[in-house]
Amino acid sequence: MIIQRVVLNSRPGKNGVPVAENFRLEQSTIADTVQAGQVRVKTLYLSVDPYMRCRMNEDTGSDYLQPWQLSEVADGGGIGVVEESKHDNLAKGDFVTSFTWPWQTVAILDGSLLQKIVPQLVNGRLSYFLGAAGITGLTALLGIREKGHVAEGANQTMVVSGAAGACGSLAGQIGRLEGCSRVVGIAGTDEKCSILVQEMGFDAAINYKKGDVAKQLRELCPGGVDVYFDNVGGDISDTVISQMNQNSHIILCGQISQYNKDVPYPPPLPPDIEKIRKERNITRERFLVLNYMDKQEASVLQLCQWIQEGKLKVRETVVEGLANIGAAFQSMMSGGNIGKQIVSVSK
Ligand code: NAP
Repeated sequence: MIIQRVVLNSRPGKNGVPVAENFRLEQSTIADTVQAGQVRVKTLYLSVDPYMRCRMNEDTGSDYLQPWQLSEVADGGGIGVVEESKHDNLAKGDFVTSFTWPWQTVAILDGSLLQKIVPQLVNGRLSYFLGAAGITGLTALLGIREKGHVAEGANQTMVVSGAAGACGSLAGQIGRLEGCSRVVGIAGTDEKCSILVQEMGFDAAINYKKGDVAKQLRELCPGGVDVYFDNVGGDISDTVISQMNQNSHIILCGQISQYNKDVPYPPPLPPDIEKIRKERNITRERFLVLNYMDKQEASVLQLCQWIQEGKLKVRETVVEGLANIGAAFQSMMSGGNIGKQIVSVSK
């Protein structure tokens, strides 16, 4: 059977900015028959995520991420529908997902590596299983629960960087649901800031590309910062950490501002900021959602419940067509997305 697929065309280099041309669309073939235990799936949605930047390097710098190989099909989070099954637990028409979905229109996959998903749990919005009801929502929820020390009634102020992105937009809302009394976001455009406040219930948002972030933060967080959900690292994080309270907590979710640089993860703080962190006893422990998969099932149900109740507002930026997945990745890395960046492959 003839299919379309996207392969890694070139590497951007450890210090380079990734571009759409790092990926290549090509025609390929898959077997016409499905073997025992396998299913043939049609791809519906693919996820592009910041961690993929590390997979574009020859050495990802971490033991849990494998590099993509040149001229070989890329993979990541995906959702599809079963077209033919020779697996006992999967039938034609089932919707399924996987963290290692190949970037191709149709694929033959090992059925035991797929998870069945139920559209009704997310009001029929299947792609949410890649975002708010998937690894992104889990990252926001478990990051806050495992590292945030948020307590109902404790009058805590939370700051979120990368706030209009996939994790950030959920983290601010979940911070509020879990008990924070004040939530302030930091994002890269006025439109994003307005959505955070008008739609997602943030108390305020700062456009870090305009004006003095430190001054705005002092005005918007008069009692200091108790919990910092950090998606970006770099200068923005140094500014936030400088305004954190004694015994406060950083949720070290990601450091996207450093991903196009050849630095270790997590990148060490500059000496003056590290001094503040130590003096104020601010925790900054590494957080990796994959370490908490025993909590996946219950946490996904919690996220689905909030979505159904309208307590969690979800935004997606959807790009149509497998051919545009490289452009979608490039755009997301440079701030083109609001909420989760999704590629819709086929209706
Ligand atoms: P995302 O926030 O949806 O997309 C990236 C956003 O980051 C962009 O839209 C852009 O928005 C912002 N950004 C890009 N370059 C920046 C820079 N130099 N400085 C400041 N902001 C920049 O991505 P996501 O999927 O939600 O991921 C957010 C973070 O969580 C990433 O660091 C990711 O690696 C991490 N993550 C961690 C785990 C875990 O287990 N720890 C799991 C999933 C994701 P602006 O317009 O605001 O610049």
